[in-house]
Amino acid sequence: TRETFLQSERLNVMSDLSASVSHEIRNPLTVTNGFLQLLKKSESLTEEDKRYIEFSLLELNRAEKIVSDFLAFAKPQCKNMIYSNLKDETEYVKNIITPYANIHQVDVQFSFNNTLNIQYDKNQIQQCLINIYKNAIEAMKEKGGILSIDVSEQKKDIVIKIKDTGVGMTREEVLQLGRPYYSTKKEGTGLGMLMVYSTINKVNGKIEVESEKGNGTTFIISIPV
Ligand code: ADP
Ligand code: MG
Repeated sequence: TRETFLQSERLNVMSDLSASVSHEIRNPLTVTNGFLQLLKKSESLTEEDKRYIEFSLLELNRAEKIVSDFLAFAKPQCKNMIYSNLKDETEYVKNIITPYANIHQVDVQFSFNNTLNIQYDKNQIQQCLINIYKNAIEAMKEKGGILSIDVSEQKKDIVIKIKDTGVGMTREEVLQLGRPYYSTKKEGTGLGMLMVYSTINKVNGKIEVESEKGNGTTFIISIPV
């Protein structure tokens, strides 16, 4: 299965909306969390009271996770714009994801051969790569495998290939990627790939997905200089 697609209009609306909403929501979440933590320490609480507080804290954490995923891709971060060749970002993200890979018996292979420069938001590119690497590792959770990352230049494009040997997807599943809240995981937010498409869209790039059920997935991102 081989699909190329970008859903620009969908992404722009999402991005504008979530920028303001997630920012406004984060503060009250933090405050509520703080008060619940205080309340938990009270000595007059029954066991049942404590259980309710625990549930509330868990749900607050969930909400915070969702908001963080939104903020990461929505927040306009002009101060992080740089003109570079992605070397620092791809290497940094590879390093921080490696412990997570090791826990799941996943080998990480990395090669970098690119001298082309583009303009991009450092944080957003890092978050975008983390989301793709995390999905790749999670796809290999059961049996381990190999995550290979290859950054190269082809004519006037920077090409990032991210290949896993995990569970793979059907054509129908590939077409769902980037749809808000689409997730096949028990604890998934279904926001990771939305962020990925949004970020690559912003640098005028395109994403190709090659996947075969049971045999792994390759994401090929091409960004024009
Ligand atoms: P989440 O990871 O929270 O489920 P994502 O938006 O990151 O949300 O991914 C959406 C879905 O796409 C995943 O639940 C999974 O089913 C599928 N997916 C993404 N990347 C891969 C991959 N490398 N291999 C297999 N399935 C994937
Ligand atoms: Mg994910």
